[in-house]
Amino acid sequence: MRLEVSVGRYSAQGIRDNNEDRLHVDRALGLYLVADGMGGQARGERASLLATKLIPAYLKRELDEGADPEAALAKAMIDANAEIVREGQDQPRGRRMGTTAVVAYLHGGKVYIGHLGDSRAYLIRGNGVKLLTHDHSVAYALVENGTMTEEQAKSSPFQHVLHKYLGCADLNGGPDIASFEAQPNDRLVLATDGLTNHITEDDLVSGARHFADMQQWAENLVDTALERGSRDNVTCIVLAFDPR
Ligand code: CA
Repeated sequence: MRLEVSVGRYSAQGIRDNNEDRLHVDRALGLYLVADGMGGQARGERASLLATKLIPAYLKRELDEGADPEAALAKAMIDANAEIVREGQDQPRGRRMGTTAVVAYLHGGKVYIGHLGDSRAYLIRGNGVKLLTHDHSVAYALVENGTMTEEQAKSSPFQHVLHKYLGCADLNGGPDIASFEAQPNDRLVLATDGLTNHITEDDLVSGARHFADMQQWAENLVDTALERGSRDNVTCIVLAFDPR
């Protein structure tokens, strides 16, 4: 079934002095990207901006050269990583720029999710929510190997220490790529941690039901995170897949 894709997007600086989050929508290419820059002030902004420029450009190049969607997306993120590492080389160790990236690439009825860092992708289908990404945080790695419980991870000082992101010297296995077949009435949310730390899965299910207009929903999600005390930049893209 052909599905109509509609999109909403919103990014708020919040109480911070600058906004290191970036979002990018390229409907013609079918690419939707959220990035959360790190490295302080101009560096974080530069890194997330680079992610939004480089990943679409490299993805186009790979597709033009005949790569399949999954390989093209992975290669685009790997090459963007190398470029951001190169640009950061004149910065002192420990202060180099980096950025998360969560990318949705729509191709032939399928949605490919590429991911590095702790920005997230959620699929809302019916009454269910599926987290499509695993945070590349040290705390989550400790949960995975059984050192910590999920509850302990939430208050761990390592919760937002990333071991994998764009701009890191060793991508150790590359980006995570997931995919799913889009179904009628699916909703997809891409968001930075300034949002995901304050929005529950119940919020996502009720919002998906309540909002027919994706732009209104995106703004509502960001406003809700800010009202609940998010002290971070807050950014999301929401996608609706509806029957034509
Ligand atoms: Ca953030």
